[in-house]
Amino acid sequence: MTNIKNDSQSHHKTEKLRLASHVASLPKSGIRDFFELVRQMEEVISLGVGEPDFITPWTIRENAIYSLERGDTSYTSNLGLLSLRRAICRYVAENYSVRYEPETECIVTVGVSEALDLAIRAITNPGDEIIYHEPCYVSYAPEITMAFGVPVPVSTKAENAFAIDPADLEKAVTPKTKAILLNFPCNPTGAVLNMEQLKAVADIAVKHDLIVLADMIYAELSYDEEIMPAISSLPGMKERTIFLHGFSKAFAMTGFRIGYACGPADIIDTMMKIHQYTMLCAPITAQRAAEEALKSGGPDMEVMRREYMIRRNVIVRNFNEAGLPCLMPHGAFYAFPDIRPTGLSSMEFATLLLREKHVAVVPGTAFGKCGEGYVRACYATSMEGICEALKRIKAFVADLKK
Ligand code: PMP
Repeated sequence: MTNIKNDSQSHHKTEKLRLASHVASLPKSGIRDFFELVRQMEEVISLGVGEPDFITPWTIRENAIYSLERGDTSYTSNLGLLSLRRAICRYVAENYSVRYEPETECIVTVGVSEALDLAIRAITNPGDEIIYHEPCYVSYAPEITMAFGVPVPVSTKAENAFAIDPADLEKAVTPKTKAILLNFPCNPTGAVLNMEQLKAVADIAVKHDLIVLADMIYAELSYDEEIMPAISSLPGMKERTIFLHGFSKAFAMTGFRIGYACGPADIIDTMMKIHQYTMLCAPITAQRAAEEALKSGGPDMEVMRREYMIRRNVIVRNFNEAGLPCLMPHGAFYAFPDIRPTGLSSMEFATLLLREKHVAVVPGTAFGKCGEGYVRACYATSMEGICEALKRIKAFVADLKK
């Protein structure tokens, strides 16, 4: 027999909200329309997408293939293969001077994206405030909102080389502040923090009893003498820091989707619960590839880093020559030139440059309001492409002056 609801029941049903309002009300990424335009155009040189142009080094791909040939096609432990967690903890200890226990203080995730999401969800109670610095990676504020937290941006400025100003940071702290989210080397500015600046952030975290989420995804792509230090290596910080990292950028492994988090056992265990009920585990083939990356990927990573450094020098010099002041980024693979001398807004600059010269850059406002006046140009693309793009940008800026 069909179960027909009476009128009052069906009326009641239509009043229910179909979508989760905290998600439905999230703004769409400001650059969607812009990249729709990029897709429709032919022969665009793109300095837009933040992804290495290198193919994953062969030994890493080969090991993934071997693992499939061996028939490695099962689930792994929820936390990830123990052998991979051991390798990760060894790597982190050697490179960042922090020791984590592979059994309890490390979890393998689907990209650092998942690690970030798990970390935020594991520590956020509704209404907790999480401070982050802008301009920043596009997903931070939405992820905090989706975890029922409150995103609190702190602007960084070119005058401070886009480092976080401790005074501004401390001003943003309230009794509801739960954590500070850091991303240095920074997407989109390429900024890093030196030891003194890291210590200033650590002091604030200790003083106000805050957790620090450190998105270290670009750490190996540092162009100074040493790679970006980890805040968790500072005294009193290991117990309050979640170290988030992955293989996407330095090993050119974006499509493998492997990341990880190292941190205090209670937090990792809570992150594991979410991961276990939602993702189960990261794909085994990608975990095997990641093991190989840590074993033999170092020299290839160094070749890519050096190539990015050469491209960085070229791109920065040319932006400055074009009359668009550009700081020398210390890490990641983005230049963040100041386009205010053109009198255009970030969006106008990017749209006109695309229409007239077929070069795609990302408007700075995609990374937060304080990105107005800047654009992001990714130099993880061929030197040939970069040189041609810069030639066109110079012509574009010269045309604007006429
Ligand atoms: N954090 C930052 C700062 C990023 O730029 C990106 C990728 N663009 C991610 C996280 C996501 O990386 P993954 O591929 O490891 O998920």
